[in-house]
Amino acid sequence: MSDTPWFYENFEHTGSAIGFRIVRKLDEVQSPFQKIEIFETTDFGNLMVIDGAMMVTTRENFFYHEMMSHAAIYTHAAPKDIAIIGGGDCGTLRECLKHADVRSVVQCDIDEQVTRMAEKYFPELCESNNDPRATVMFDDGIAYMRNAAPESLDIIIVDSTDPVGPAEGLFNRAFYEDCFKALRPDGLLVQQSESPLALMHLIQDMVGAMGDAGFQSFRTLPFPQPCYPTGWWSCTIAGKQARDLAKFRLPDAAAKPFRTEYYNAGMHVAALAQPEFMKRALQQT
Ligand code: SAM
Repeated sequence: MSDTPWFYENFEHTGSAIGFRIVRKLDEVQSPFQKIEIFETTDFGNLMVIDGAMMVTTRENFFYHEMMSHAAIYTHAAPKDIAIIGGGDCGTLRECLKHADVRSVVQCDIDEQVTRMAEKYFPELCESNNDPRATVMFDDGIAYMRNAAPESLDIIIVDSTDPVGPAEGLFNRAFYEDCFKALRPDGLLVQQSESPLALMHLIQDMVGAMGDAGFQSFRTLPFPQPCYPTGWWSCTIAGKQARDLAKFRLPDAAAKPFRTEYYNAGMHVAALAQPEFMKRALQQT
C-alpha cells in the first residue's frame, strides 16, 4: 500500500492538512466557475474536490448534510418552504425532503457541473432530486435571494463553498438583508460556518453581519466533519425574531420517522452545548 497515492488538502491558515488514500482519479471538469475533481479512495468511497478543497466523501458526508438540515427544521415550528443556496451535491436537499410536512425545497447552485458530477459519482445523494416538491436550479444564489419574493420562505440554508471565489458574496450584510426580507417572520437562516477551532473570527464576522442585517438570535452548533479543515465544523442558525434557538421540537426529533446516520434528538441537544472557548468568543447563551 505504500506506493498508493494520497490526496492531501493543505490548509495554509491552520498549518495542517487532511488526506485520503486514493485508488485513482475518476473525473475532472473545469466549469466556468471552478475546477471539480472526483477521486476514488480506498476507504471513504468517492471524494469530490472543488478548486483543491474537499467537499464530500461517500462515507462521511452525513455529519454535515444532516446537521445543516434537520437541526434548523426541528428548530422551526412548522417549516413548509425551504431554499438551499449552493448545496449542488444535493445531500442537503435529500435530507430536507425526508420531512413529509415540507412543501417545497428550491436548491440554487451556481454550478450545474457540481450536480452532474454528484449524479454520476454520488447517486445516493441525488435520490430525491425528482421529488415533486424539489426544484433544482442553477443560478447565482446572490441574485436568487435578491429577487426572492418577500416573506416567502421559512428556512434558507446556505450550503456553500468557503468564502472565496463565487461564494464570497454569500457571507456579507447585503446578502443577509436579502435573506431577511425573503423569510417569513418566524424564519430561520442556516449557514455552514467553517471550523470554530480555526476560523472563529469568520463566525464572529458572519454573526455580526447577520445582526447588522436585522437577525435577532444566533446559535452556532459544532459537529464533526472529518474531511474539512481541523475535522471539526459548524453551522450557524440565525432567527429573524428574538428567540431561544436552543429550544427545538425535541419530541418530534425523537420520534423522527426517517433514517439518519448522525442526527437525532440527543445529538441535537449535544450540539447545543458549546465548549468554553466558543462560549467566550460568541456569547450565545
Ligand atoms: N459542504 C461543502 C463545504 O462546506 O465545503 C459545500 C458543498 S457544496 C458542493 C458547495 C456549493 O456552493 C458548490 O456546489 C458551489 O458551486 C456552490 N456555490 C458557490 N458559490 C455560490 C453562489 N454564489 N451561488 C450559488 N451556489 C454557489
